[in-house]
Amino acid sequence: MQTKEDVIGLCRIKPGTRVRLSDFDPGWAGDKAIPKKERKEIAEKVLSDDVEELSDAQDRLYASDTCSVLIIFQAMDAAGKDGTIRHVMSGINPQGCQVFSFKQPSAEELDHNYLWRYMKCLPERGRIGIFNRSYYEEVLVVRVHPELVERQRIPGLVAGKRLWQERYEEINHFEQHLARNGTIILKFFLNISPDEQRKRFLERLTNKEKHWKFSSSDLTERAFWKDYMKAYEEMLSSTSTSWAPWHIIPADHKWVTRSIVAATITEAIRSLKLKYPEISHEMLKQVDTARKILQEEEK
Ligand code: ATP
Ligand code: MG
Repeated sequence: MQTKEDVIGLCRIKPGTRVRLSDFDPGWAGDKAIPKKERKEIAEKVLSDDVEELSDAQDRLYASDTCSVLIIFQAMDAAGKDGTIRHVMSGINPQGCQVFSFKQPSAEELDHNYLWRYMKCLPERGRIGIFNRSYYEEVLVVRVHPELVERQRIPGLVAGKRLWQERYEEINHFEQHLARNGTIILKFFLNISPDEQRKRFLERLTNKEKHWKFSSSDLTERAFWKDYMKAYEEMLSSTSTSWAPWHIIPADHKWVTRSIVAATITEAIRSLKLKYPEISHEMLKQVDTARKILQEEEK
């Protein structure tokens, strides 16, 4: 049977790999030799154990105040970014975690370099920062719709292959800078199939309580599916590095997505072997005195 570590390993893209998305099954749902009900139960147990461990790991991260964790989610619409973030982070102390969702850039943001608005949202030491979409949109939606890059008013810009290569390099260097300075970076591409996306959109259009989740631009973007997959493949091939690896997560079954994402984050934080800060001799003396004073009050 595959262990949790095997599954994480299969999803992680080794640096330099030429990614072909046809090699990754969005509908993967564990070892078929085991009945589905059992697989689902195992995955749900993994998720609840990891959520608990994550809460403990976050406490240490916060107390040690040295590293930060940046978690990036990218996906086509309805792949389950929001639900995954909500479930995986459910046990976490909100004080130590912040989620930022990035939409179309504002006029002010377009007046700066393209990394500016993301830099402002990076997590401080001791905290977990989640990017729901990120600077990777700059080589995804912007690549699929090159007219968007014109709005950035970059002098001498030509939206050809070289521009995207340069952006991959810039992003890799930016992430290396973050990693060298204490940020752990984990990147997830939630890989949904077009058929499952169609089902989820239809559900949003049929179920009154889900109407609000639908936006007409969802259908417009769906029509560009092939272009998006090409942009994703190139991006995943060029920006999975040892300091900021990409993970391609099967996203047709929500229980699979949530469990693998939770396991990957917990494994990464666990590997830091974070400890609570050592208390100095002086501080221990102060703790002792304070305790005695409070105990005296009781008498
Ligand atoms: P949900 O649909 O679950 O609310 P979402 O992330 O899809 O979440 P939307 O408001 O539907 O949010 O979409 C945000 C849109 O903004 C996406 O189509 C995305 O491609 C676009 N976007 C994000 N970053 C950029 C960027 N840097 N340049 C241009 N468009 C961007
Ligand atoms: Mg959307």
